[in-house]
Amino acid sequence: MAGNYTLTIVKPDAFGANKAGKIIALLEDKGFSIVAARAMRMSKEQAGAFYEVHAARPFYGELVEFMTSGACMPIILRRDNAVSALRDAIGATDPAEAAEGTVRKLYAESKGRNAIHASDSDENAAREARFFFAECEWVK
Ligand code: UDP
Ligand code: MG
Repeated sequence: MAGNYTLTIVKPDAFGANKAGKIIALLEDKGFSIVAARAMRMSKEQAGAFYEVHAARPFYGELVEFMTSGACMPIILRRDNAVSALRDAIGATDPAEAAEGTVRKLYAESKGRNAIHASDSDENAAREARFFFAECEWVK
C-alpha cells in the first residue's frame, strides 16, 4: 500500500533565491501538509551520505558541491499516496522535460540545479526522513 509520507528538500538554488515559500505554497495547494521542516546547510559528509546511491555516477561530485553550496530546507510532507503525488508535482529531473505547472518547470535552472528533491519510494522516504528528522514520530 502506498504510504502517506515523503521527504522533500528545497535545494540551495531555490532556497537561496527565496523561492521556498512559493514552492511550499504550490505543494500545499496540491494537498500536502508539512509534518516537519528545518533550514540547514549540509556538510560534505551529509550530502555525500544522502546521495550515496549516486556515488558511482559522473555527476556525484558536482551534486555534493551544489547541495553544500548554501542552505537548503528538508521537509517531511504528508498526503495520501505521498511519494508518487510529490514526484508528479516536482516534474522531470531536467526542467526542459518537466510538465507545465511543476516545481521544476517553474523554478529549476538546469538538470543539476533543479530546485527540489523528492524521495522515489516509500522505503527511501523513510530512510531520507530519518536522515534529517531522527526525532520525528513517524520515522521512529
Ligand atoms: N543530477 C545531475 N545530473 C544528472 C542527473 C542528476 O546533476 O544527469 C542531479 C540532480 O540534482 C538530481 C540529482 O542529481 O535531482 C539526483 O538524481 P536523480 O536521477 O535521482 O533525479 P531526481 O530523483 O532528483 O529527479
Ligand atoms: Mg532521485
